[in-house]
Amino acid sequence: MRLLVTGGAGYIGSICSAVALAAGHRVAIFDNLGHGHKAAVPAGAELVEGDLLDEGSLRDAVGAGFDAVLHFAALIVVPESVARPERYYRNNVVGTLNLVDALRQAGVRRLVFSSTAAVYGEPESVPIPESAPTRPASPYGNSKLAVDRLLADECAAHGLAAASLRYFNVGGALHGLGEDHRPETHLIPNVLAVAAGRAEAVELFGTDYDTPDGTCVRDYVHIEDLAAAHFLALEALEAGRHDVYNLGSGSGYSVLEVIETARRVTGRPLPVQERPRRPGDAPRLVASSQAIASALGWQPRHDLEAIIGDAWSWMQEHPNGYSD
Ligand code: UDP
Repeated sequence: MRLLVTGGAGYIGSICSAVALAAGHRVAIFDNLGHGHKAAVPAGAELVEGDLLDEGSLRDAVGAGFDAVLHFAALIVVPESVARPERYYRNNVVGTLNLVDALRQAGVRRLVFSSTAAVYGEPESVPIPESAPTRPASPYGNSKLAVDRLLADECAAHGLAAASLRYFNVGGALHGLGEDHRPETHLIPNVLAVAAGRAEAVELFGTDYDTPDGTCVRDYVHIEDLAAAHFLALEALEAGRHDVYNLGSGSGYSVLEVIETARRVTGRPLPVQERPRRPGDAPRLVASSQAIASALGWQPRHDLEAIIGDAWSWMQEHPNGYSD
């Protein structure tokens, strides 16, 4: 297939691009390099530097002719979205609307979108099925849910074939590519930065949650498993239908359990500094991935230790991330 990958210079987009290339697909990456890294663009992919808000360059890029689009490009920092919601609505919602318009005009009718567990807000119970109420707790989550709805409506009205994959917590590395967000807000790379000696202590946000050890519980999925789900979802798309799938392992780990696992994997002591709760963090987010398991046969193959182990290897090979 000829694939257009928006956000293909970012963590998840670059690795999905590398997986697509390894499977024999052709890949063009559309990325504004605002947060992505040129060095993350895998060999063999074409890089088109452009912004989803620039309708002209988007139309030109999409017009080159593609069988499908993997749409990763987005702003993703929750506290920033609270402070500057307009940036999130513009980049994530208007940007996607521009993309959908361009795809309709060019006759590209298949799309897989990176949605998020953040659409569920604070769930009533876990594991969370796709039928759970969507009540995002942040403008970031609102912007992703708005796109899920936009895609459902576009499928119904114009025959787009689309899937929204609602990611839980993604980690790990693959094909020599890894996670290098700036600023980094995610737990695993922040814990590993301490193991690598780049920070003194892990900041632990909140120890008084209603969870077994008082710290937040999350569901971690390896980037390789996550990437595999994209291609299963892509193969199964049907015109006029919008598929929605959660992507998690179904198992929850507390922040303290993640730190303990990282101590084992890295052999480093990993001191912890307790901090107040981080605004907007739900106590427990664990996916039910039953739907994608039964519809597409997807099963995660990597556990938390493998996720942290692969992230740690990548960090040791790239001590300065993509600035090397
Ligand atoms: N967290 C933490 N220290 C960090 C980064 C994250 O204690 O340096 C906590 C965070 O408060 C949350 C969990 O780890 O409870 C997972 O956060 P992350 O940002 O990785 O993912 P999220 O679940 O927010 O998407």
